[in-house]
Amino acid sequence: MIMTKPTNERLKPRKRPENYRSLLTTANAKTVKGEDLGYYTGILYLSPANESGVINTCGSASPECINLCLKSSGRMPMNIASRIAKTIFMVENREAFLQSLRFDIEGIIAKACQLGLKPAVRLNGTSDLPWIAMLLCQEYPQVMFYDYTKHPKPELRLRPNYWITFSHSGHNLAECLRVLALGVNVAVVFRVKDSQPLPETWHGRQVIDGTTHDLRFLDNVGVVVGLRPKGKAKKAPLDSPFVVLTESTHGCTMAA
Ligand code: SF4
Repeated sequence: MIMTKPTNERLKPRKRPENYRSLLTTANAKTVKGEDLGYYTGILYLSPANESGVINTCGSASPECINLCLKSSGRMPMNIASRIAKTIFMVENREAFLQSLRFDIEGIIAKACQLGLKPAVRLNGTSDLPWIAMLLCQEYPQVMFYDYTKHPKPELRLRPNYWITFSHSGHNLAECLRVLALGVNVAVVFRVKDSQPLPETWHGRQVIDGTTHDLRFLDNVGVVVGLRPKGKAKKAPLDSPFVVLTESTHGCTMAA
């Protein structure tokens, strides 16, 4: 994959659009880790799957990933009203939603420039709607966009400034192995405790630790991004295909 590295080019200030709503989160554990690596990051948290009641934002989710979704980790349960409001805003007034996103992205670019950092944006923090990033990455070539996805054929959606990490759902092993062979990285949740090491390999591919930061576009190509269970996933049943047993946890009765 040929990646265009983002610059911190400054834009002319845009007027706050009509019906503006603040959409991008810039201050959480993920974005702070990114600053240490030279990136100022904004993340959009919409309602995963059918949480909003108005749209399914995760068309390729598995029952297990919906049940164990990130929405149950950290402060996510407290932000349900905000996620639902943003999702309804997107469905009911797409133009104002996109204009608000553009305003926020330009704010990220300006702030990154001020801080001497590069701008990065993740538009599917808890959803899987690739069209948003595919549209906006064309308008902002100076921004590095990145997402995780469970939709098949991610290689067709890659762009010079849109990096996609494919996600193991528990039911898409063949697609995981196919895209790995094409150089698209695959994220896998392993059943290990926070204090335990991730496995070194998965299906013959090197496993890297995906928990040290969220800037997936800095990863080497052709690797497995190893994640540890969060939220409800820590209590996943042993037979859950979404949380993958490792050699050290096979036969072990305690979840991470
Ligand atoms: S696809 Fe991702 S965001 Fe959607 S329900 Fe599954 S884990 Fe959650």
